[in-house]
Amino acid sequence: MPATPAWPPKSLPRLYVGGPLGPGISIMLDAGQANYLGNVMRLQIGDEALLFDGASGEWLARVADAGKKRMTLNIERRTAEQEAVPDVWLAFAPVKRTPTDWLVEKATELGAARLIPVITQRTIVDRVKLERLEAIAIEAAEQCRRTSLPEIAEPRPLARLLAQRDDRTLYFADEEGGERAAGTFKPGPALLLIGPEGGFTDDERKLICAAPSSVAISLGPRILRAETAALAALAAYMAVAGDWA
Ligand code: SAM
Repeated sequence: MPATPAWPPKSLPRLYVGGPLGPGISIMLDAGQANYLGNVMRLQIGDEALLFDGASGEWLARVADAGKKRMTLNIERRTAEQEAVPDVWLAFAPVKRTPTDWLVEKATELGAARLIPVITQRTIVDRVKLERLEAIAIEAAEQCRRTSLPEIAEPRPLARLLAQRDDRTLYFADEEGGERAAGTFKPGPALLLIGPEGGFTDDERKLICAAPSSVAISLGPRILRAETAALAALAAYMAVAGDWA
C-alpha cells in the first residue's frame, strides 16, 4: 500500500484487488487493505476509491460497509480502459535485495511487461523471493496508475532464457561496447538483457551474441551499476520504441 500521502490527498486512493470487476459487483477487501483505506486514508461509507484487477481496467468504487478491519466497496463505473503496455521483457541478474526491489519498482513504473531474474556465472544472488517482488510491483502499479501488472517470472539460467524467448529481439546491454541504443531499438516484442555486477563472462558473451536476433547495445561510455543499466535500457526503449515514442 502506498505511503501515507499529504492530507487531503490529491487523487482518490487506488488499490489492486482480485477480479473480476464490473458494474454492481461488490468487493470485500482483505484486512490489510481495509485497514489502509479505513484507518490510514480514513474512508467512510459513501466515499470513493479506485480499484483495478490487472485485466479489466480501472473502476470507481464506493464504500458500502466499513468496520475496524473490514470494508466492502460497490463498483460503479469504469474510469480507465485496460492498458496494453509495450511487449518488452526485462531480464536482469539479481543484485542485492534493496537494489533489486528498487529495480522492480521502477521497471513497473516504466512499463515493463515481464521481469525475469536470470542466473549467470557471476550472479551473486541466485534466489529471489517472488512474492516479495510481486508485492513491490503491485504497490508501484497502484502508485503510477498502471492497470496491468508486470509478470514476475521464475529465475532461470541464462541458457534457458536464451532458449525460451520465442522470436523476440534480444537487446543485450554490453559494457564492452555495442550499437547506440537510441538508433537500434525497434518497436515489437523485445527482451532487454542486463548482466550482473561482475559482468558477463566471455563464454556467456559468445553464447548471447550467437543467439538468433540478438544485438549488443551500449548504454554510453560509463560503467553503470546493474540496476541503473536495467532502467536506463528500459527508459531508452520506451522513449524510442515504446509507449513514450
Ligand atoms: N563488471 C563489469 C565491469 O566492471 O566492466 C561491469 C558490469 S556492470 C556493473 C553490470 C551490467 O550492466 C553489465 O553486465 C551490462 O549488462 C550493464 N552495463 C553497465 N554499463 C553499461 C554500458 N555503459 N553499456 C551497456 N551495458 C552496460
